[in-house]
Amino acid sequence: MHSGDTTSPAERLRLIHTHFLAPGGGGPRAERTARATEPAAAIRLDVYDHLRDAANEVTALVKSLCDEADPYEPPPARVEDTYRWCIEETAHLDEQRQRSRDAVIYRQGLQHAILMGDAKVIRRHPCPDCATWGLTWDRRRETVVCLNRHCADDDGQSTTWTLAQIAEKHIARQSARAARAT
Ligand SMILES: [Zn+2]
Repeated sequence: MHSGDTTSPAERLRLIHTHFLAPGGGGPRAERTARATEPAAAIRLDVYDHLRDAANEVTALVKSLCDEADPYEPPPARVEDTYRWCIEETAHLDEQRQRSRDAVIYRQGLQHAILMGDAKVIRRHPCPDCATWGLTWDRRRETVVCLNRHCADDDGQSTTWTLAQIAEKHIARQSARAARAT
């Protein structure tokens, strides 16, 4: 049932690219948003920045994970190939470093989903504190909030999480499951 965000980050990256940026693209969601409020150019710039930041972060990650004695191929020209490249270049690393890589990629997948208006992917993760399915995305504060009132602190302030925390917990659960299965 609840298995996290099932659409792969690479698939979301490709979707964003074809729907918002590819020549002649412009998916239905982009058109709707454009009619509603902002000029299309502003939206595309925003999406362009998002994709560039995501690719830059992954490139920096590969650089930081592989030390100098350990050369890696330059990043791919196509942004859609970024995750495949990242995983290939770091496949020989120890488990802990591969997990931190997977958490970054998974967190980017959540960011792609939110950018595409699919913030409900957050609900597919249990709260790291109370373990209930009460998590939701607070668009204004750009943070994950647990709606379970028993999870709130003594002043009634809801527990909040970053997307990075949610991704790290998800990857940790996934590798614990994989370890049990072997
Ligand atoms: Zn909670």
